[in-house]
Amino acid sequence: VTALDGDLCPFCEGQEHLAGREILAWRSPGGEADTPGWRVRVVANRLPALRVESQYAEPTAGVLQALGGLGAHEVIIESPHHAANWSTMTADEIRLVLWAWRERMRDLRRDIRLKTFLVVKNVGAAAGATLDHAHSQLLALPFVPLHLDDEIAGARARLSKTSHCAFCEMVDEEIARGVRIVSSGETTVALAPFASRVPFETWVMPRHHGASFEEESDETLLAIAERLRDVMQRLHEALKSPPYSVLLHTAPVGEGASFHWHLEIVPRLTPVNGLAWDGGIHINPVSPEEATRVLRESLRS
Ligand SMILES: [Zn+2]
Ligand SMILES: [Zn+2]
Repeated sequence: VTALDGDLCPFCEGQEHLAGREILAWRSPGGEADTPGWRVRVVANRLPALRVESQYAEPTAGVLQALGGLGAHEVIIESPHHAANWSTMTADEIRLVLWAWRERMRDLRRDIRLKTFLVVKNVGAAAGATLDHAHSQLLALPFVPLHLDDEIAGARARLSKTSHCAFCEMVDEEIARGVRIVSSGETTVALAPFASRVPFETWVMPRHHGASFEEESDETLLAIAERLRDVMQRLHEALKSPPYSVLLHTAPVGEGASFHWHLEIVPRLTPVNGLAWDGGIHINPVSPEEATRVLRESLRS
């Protein structure tokens, strides 16, 4: 818990001037921008890592290359209420958060210099959050970051070998096996990925194939919101409000059908050690099958 609460929080309703001018908001008809009455609100990050006014790359003579910080960095304020989180918000409230991500991506996609959208949500100081009030950050980058590029390369290779999406195949296989399915509905699934990197890592994704998050319908956003709420209630119940990050992985602009967008929920229960940081080698003390069992039983009364 940080020092900021109620009356100092820039994200609370009534303090819109502290967070800055809104880029987008969901508010009742007739409501004025930058005033109370909103349910979700998007503003520019006050200390942006990237700006659309920047240049991408300046050619340099030596081996060291610098990129100019071109991109966008926005903050989605997910609720007017200070204490809200995804386990207490309604599915419709979470849907509006996903709606804001989607609408901002659709708008930013018109800038042809921007290639990749990342959404990061950090909850708790151990996950890197500096404010308690529910929020997420949207970054638009002029390149594809390495870890995503790697994931896409794997999916592309599988597609050219089998003509199937690797993620669709994975979902089908996992549903057939059942041991790593945390919960599922008609159109969405939450699973503990095979060889999870950290304890209780959970992915939420649509069961139908979809490369780009920003192409999804309102119906899918609501179904994903319901699944997220369910998973968050399980995580809160089983792990007593753990710090965690949520990462949206979606196809870069123009990537085509080889990718399958998904949300990775990464609880921050153990510190990142040198092996994971330097080698990408993760030693996970809780198997995904055990995590699945705990999460499945957590909401049984
Ligand atoms: Zn607040
Ligand atoms: Zn797929």
